[in-house]
Amino acid sequence: MQQAVITDKFGRVLQDLRISVTDRCNFRCRYCMPREIFGKDFAFLPKEHLLTFEEIERLASTFLQLGVKKIRLTGGEPLLRKNIDELIERLASLEGLEDIGLTTNGVLLGKMADKLKAAGLKRVNVSLDALDDKTFMAINDSNFPSHPVIKSIQQAKDAGLVVKINMVVKKGMNDHEVLSMANFFKERGITLRFIEFMDVGQTNGWDFQHVVTKKELYEMIAKEHDLEPVEPDYIGEVAKRYRYKGTETEVGFITSVSESFCSSCTRARIAADGHFYTCLFAGTGFNLKDILREGISNEELKNTIINRWQKREDRYSDERTEETAKKRKKIEMSYIGG
Ligand code: SAM
Ligand code: SF4
Ligand code: SF4
Repeated sequence: MQQAVITDKFGRVLQDLRISVTDRCNFRCRYCMPREIFGKDFAFLPKEHLLTFEEIERLASTFLQLGVKKIRLTGGEPLLRKNIDELIERLASLEGLEDIGLTTNGVLLGKMADKLKAAGLKRVNVSLDALDDKTFMAINDSNFPSHPVIKSIQQAKDAGLVVKINMVVKKGMNDHEVLSMANFFKERGITLRFIEFMDVGQTNGWDFQHVVTKKELYEMIAKEHDLEPVEPDYIGEVAKRYRYKGTETEVGFITSVSESFCSSCTRARIAADGHFYTCLFAGTGFNLKDILREGISNEELKNTIINRWQKREDRYSDERTEETAKKRKKIEMSYIGG
């Protein structure tokens, strides 16, 4: 298949696609879906507003024709979406797709790992913010201990999936766990990536003071370990990668706040209800679901997406200030898909 190369206003190529398959989650991480907002009365998307698998497949196939090579499924918690393996199987067989991954909190991963792998999934990023149960439970606010997630990580590896761990670090929340997490995953030869706490959405009470920067994280780890930089694998790779000297094990930093990477951001996002976003911090999206359901032709659909990408000027993290972080209207992470 001939893949197009579509560029935005700053010459950034459309290359990656994140698809959120649900806005629901079995955790209530304090920094993402605080329970006082996402409580019993919160209005999650009704089923008929979610993209169907057929619609997701059609959109994915269109994005692949427009240059996308990698797809990641996310949410909310993507493993809560019924028959997710069926969706993966449909997507994995699409022409032009080089990589398909999924980001999960790991709760349901262990028992699903073999099925996901068989469906064609290549990699999983498992979010784990602490080993210590007290800290982990205070974060997930769901009384869920860390050992089942750790077990899931092993089961995913055993199933043949490439596994990476994501740890969001917030000052006073889990920064005391940075070194123990680094040691734990180094010993197991698994890549751990530290994510700077971000001001996504409107509800997580973000403040610059809460961010533990890459520099601080690096220094904590470098006290015990010698690290050497690893060259990026491709343009637009978001993590700054390092290797523990004398090993093949890597550690990474996603520096969205302290060293933003908008100039190489090649990522499009589709929310669970089919809204198309060109930035994680966008305030509005473009409703692709409605035009699909109105019977848009393939050619028109392609042109609509091309048009939106060509108009893209997003560089929120490059321009972030205390003011924009607090005042700008932004979509919640659990809806847009992290
Ligand atoms: N539920 C899945 C999970 O937790 O892996 C997938 C969706 S979650 C929104 C995707 C990623 O976004 C997770 O690694 C999560 O820790 C991260 N995340 C959520 N809120 C964040 C924030 N305010 N700052 C940085 N990362 C955040
Ligand atoms: Fe759920 Fe993931 Fe958000 Fe935690 S970070 S509340 S697991 S969507
Ligand atoms: Fe991409 Fe927007 Fe993040 Fe910048 S702020 S890296 S444009 S998603």
